[in-house]
Amino acid sequence: MESRTMPAATWTPATQALPKRDVWQAMARGLRCRCPNCGEGKIFRAFLKVADNCSVCGENLSHHRADDLPAYLVIVIVGHIIVPIALWIETNYAPSMLLQLAFYLPFTLASSLLLLQPVKGAVVGLQWAFRMHGFDESRPADVEEGTIAKLTVVK
Ligand SMILES: [Zn+2]
Repeated sequence: MESRTMPAATWTPATQALPKRDVWQAMARGLRCRCPNCGEGKIFRAFLKVADNCSVCGENLSHHRADDLPAYLVIVIVGHIIVPIALWIETNYAPSMLLQLAFYLPFTLASSLLLLQPVKGAVVGLQWAFRMHGFDESRPADVEEGTIAKLTVVK
């Protein structure tokens, strides 16, 4: 049996030596829209725009790749609140459709907008804690850029 050669962008002893980050603490800080590293600086510079750096500790936050995950999570959370309420009200009281829409639509919109920012903050905190994407400072920047370039060529 021949031995496999490892590609250059795999786990190295330098990566293993990095201190572990507390995932729950980082996610809780992100949920409060605070920097996952220090818990003090703001994580967002606009409603859903993540700041490039923490204003307090200077941690580089531009490496996040939250993409659509926060929106999917908000849909799951809000759906699990609205749908059981709608089923319960319909089963027990059967109010008019207009009355139901007058309650469900604004509640769905408001709760989605309220949850989107904290959920995105938690996702960024999770990625930071697991050193995903560019948050792994032991990994040279050109490795990830090379990976992205290859993926672009394949498309
Ligand atoms: Zn910070």
